[in-house]
Amino acid sequence: MSSSTPRASRHIVQNEDLLFEVSSPGKRGYQLPALDVPAVTLAAARREIPDCPEVSELEVIRHFTRLSTWNYGVDTGIYPLGSCTMKYNARVNEAVTRLEGLGDGHPLQPEELSQGALRIMQLLSEYLLEITGMDAITLQPAAGAQGELTGILLVRAALTARGDARKKVLIPDSAHGTNPATAAIAGYTVENLKSNPDGTVDMASLDRQMTRDVAALMLTNPNTLGIFEEDIHRIADLVHERGGMLYMDGANMNALVGRSRPGDFGVDVMHLNLHKTFSTPHGGGGPGSGPVAVKKTLEPYLPIPVLRVKRGKPVLDYRRPKSIGRVRAFYGNFGMFTRALAYIMANGSDGLKQTTEDAVLNANYIRRKLQDVFALPYPTPSMHEVVFSDSIQAAQGVHTGDIAKRLIDYGFHPYTVSFPLVVRGAMMIEPTESANQREMDEFIAALRAIAEESKNTPELVTGAPHTTKISRLDEVAAARNPVLRWRPSKSEAAQS
Ligand SMILES: *Cc1c(COP(=O)(O)O)cnc(C)c1O
Repeated sequence: MSSSTPRASRHIVQNEDLLFEVSSPGKRGYQLPALDVPAVTLAAARREIPDCPEVSELEVIRHFTRLSTWNYGVDTGIYPLGSCTMKYNARVNEAVTRLEGLGDGHPLQPEELSQGALRIMQLLSEYLLEITGMDAITLQPAAGAQGELTGILLVRAALTARGDARKKVLIPDSAHGTNPATAAIAGYTVENLKSNPDGTVDMASLDRQMTRDVAALMLTNPNTLGIFEEDIHRIADLVHERGGMLYMDGANMNALVGRSRPGDFGVDVMHLNLHKTFSTPHGGGGPGSGPVAVKKTLEPYLPIPVLRVKRGKPVLDYRRPKSIGRVRAFYGNFGMFTRALAYIMANGSDGLKQTTEDAVLNANYIRRKLQDVFALPYPTPSMHEVVFSDSIQAAQGVHTGDIAKRLIDYGFHPYTVSFPLVVRGAMMIEPTESANQREMDEFIAALRAIAEESKNTPELVTGAPHTTKISRLDEVAAARNPVLRWRPSKSEAAQS
């Protein structure tokens, strides 16, 4: 190990036992006065666990506080997971979400008593329509993938009503995995569209494959390589000429908000990820929200209830004979709406535009500072994220997953590994506008150090992480056979 390798110290609280293991009989986290009624034994106590842990209050506090330090979150540092837009959720978003009347509102409250909540949904809808340039919107879907399914079901309903149901959905090879899954679940055959050497849609292939059998093209823009589809107008025209619809996966709107509107470049239907672009927390931090915005032709099919304004008051409209029905209980994840609305209003239109520009600038800063040590498979300019490949390091047997694990030793959350699939050994980095220059410089320094290690001491990288409680998991077994609960050892069980 070279002496310039930053020293990784072992965290003192990483050897934390379970409360069951530190339990000792008679310890209590409370004190009660002496019993003045007859004692009884509860019959309903669970048998498979010999006893509840007996620990002091301080032990409980320390146990959970230590466990909390094992976590890495957006509040800890740069969280550069590409495609995920892990941006900071400002505390003001939380404050407004917890306001009395909002935080404790109930979805079964009558409409007259929910006027404030409905107005929030109305205002958010108006802003999102302004941002996307679309005509109508539903806030109901609970995530991006559910938004995709909703959007594709809208396309299917509209085409079926036209008597032209069609069978296929075209999806570029750079797409997020949820896109083909969505199309398949909606009953379509998925056809792969290959990218050209720039990493964008190949117009000749599109021309050949966009037949009268194709219901929609599902496109992410900028795509998952972080590249803007510059031919988007021609793509939209071609799809429309052949009677299909253009679905845009809007998960990458952090590169467009305030600068360019999908409604203006020919998109018929799209989803947004409020939990990415509009700062509501995610990744174990909260539920999602995947509003779907559409052009006029698809409006009659939106999920019920549809929010509209009647004599100046927001009302929920259930009488929509062409609706595809509900996709989610009630109106969606309301707490995400207040957070997203607070984010939009706190930024204002200038702030939103600045946010987009900063996100793009940050990604390009990282690209510039790393492109001499990591391979850049597509030379096309980057938007809000940059995709490198591990091809230089792979010559020493070091792969993208190893580099990501080694980043943990340097105190950073890894980037997205092995995605998009079109890039072999992909390293996908999205700093978002939340990262400041100092943090990015530290992150860049860590990756440059790992590139050096990959040349000189590759085993240091392939054996990483070295500073965590457990090093490499068997990822396949962890997914197929997760062990999610503790059981007492035989001897402990026998004692009880
Ligand atoms: C995150 C993402 C999705 C899926 O969104 P979820 O909210 O995770 O379901 C779809 N497409 C792209 C490009 C994404 O980045």
